Amino acid sequence: MKHVHWQKDLHLLSRLRLFRNVAASNLEQLLKEFRACDLDTGEIVLSPFNRNQYLYLVLAGRLMVYLGSLENSPVSTVEVGECAGEISFIDNDHPSAYVVASEPTSVLRLHRQALVGLFQQAPQVMQNLLELLCDRVRQGNRIILDTEQNAKIDTLTGLFNRRWLEHIYQRESTRCAFNGQPLSMLMLDVDHFKGYNDRHGHLAGDYALCLVAHTLRNQLRPKDSMARYGGEEFVILLPEMNCREARAIGERLRSSLEQIPSFYSPLGVLPGVTVSIGLAEMCKPDSLQGLIARADSALYQAKQDGRNRLNG
Ligand code: GH3
Ligand code: MG
Ligand code: MG
Repeated sequence: MKHVHWQKDLHLLSRLRLFRNVAASNLEQLLKEFRACDLDTGEIVLSPFNRNQYLYLVLAGRLMVYLGSLENSPVSTVEVGECAGEISFIDNDHPSAYVVASEPTSVLRLHRQALVGLFQQAPQVMQNLLELLCDRVRQGNRIILDTEQNAKIDTLTGLFNRRWLEHIYQRESTRCAFNGQPLSMLMLDVDHFKGYNDRHGHLAGDYALCLVAHTLRNQLRPKDSMARYGGEEFVILLPEMNCREARAIGERLRSSLEQIPSFYSPLGVLPGVTVSIGLAEMCKPDSLQGLIARADSALYQAKQDGRNRLNG
């Protein structure tokens, strides 16, 4: 980071978030505390391994923010007019993210010793800094929400994904076994789906998968879980249901799809699809893999028997 001489540019300063609504006469005074610096591409400004003493205001260029590791994709950017380092600048702790210059970047930086004086001279700066911190908190919450959603949810269908199925199975199988209740699994596979894609296109196939997901999920109880297990394969966990009860449910689900000859999609009217279903009931002790293997072999038999049917 090179200290450079900076020719004051009041127009540019008025674009900085931190100085919003601060009188120009005040700005002159405040600027005495700031130092201008230039950063090279790839230069690390903040790192969780180094305590931070500075608040950085971006005058030109751009900074990238990385969580956890520099190998990860950046979670956000800090553009001209925005700030970096404000949290660790205030609490004098280690930064929680890496902040790196993604191109040659000019910043103004302020040492934390000047903080109290700054607030006394210009309370508006404090207000602006608090607003910046609120933005950071909201941004952090959004990142948490997105990460959790990605870990659980299949983006095409909105169903749980395969990884999350393991989590749900652990919880539900333990609960049912503890209460001496059964648990059943349905494994579904769309029939002749390769041909469907070939005839109508992959995007049409995607809409058909969404149709399957929405049609079936709407018929389930809140305690049931439906996951997209693979491409055109779905798994439904039915807690507290033995195989006789699950067979009736599975049969109803299968028949509900059979009764949709066509559906509306953004591509226009598309033909419906049918599914074959394999059923298995949990035996104690049954791992998820064990239960899936038995549901899968029942599904295989349903395909052998002619498809659009339930077996098990
Ligand atoms: P079967 O009745 O025996 O299940 O025949 P099938 O054609 O459904 O089985 P196969 O396993 O040969 O083909 C599955 C097809 O599913 C091939 C693949 O392109 C398609 N597929 C998998 N995932 C997706 C997806 O996300 N979107 C779309 N549109 N197609 C998918
Ligand atoms: Mg398949
Ligand atoms: Mg299939």
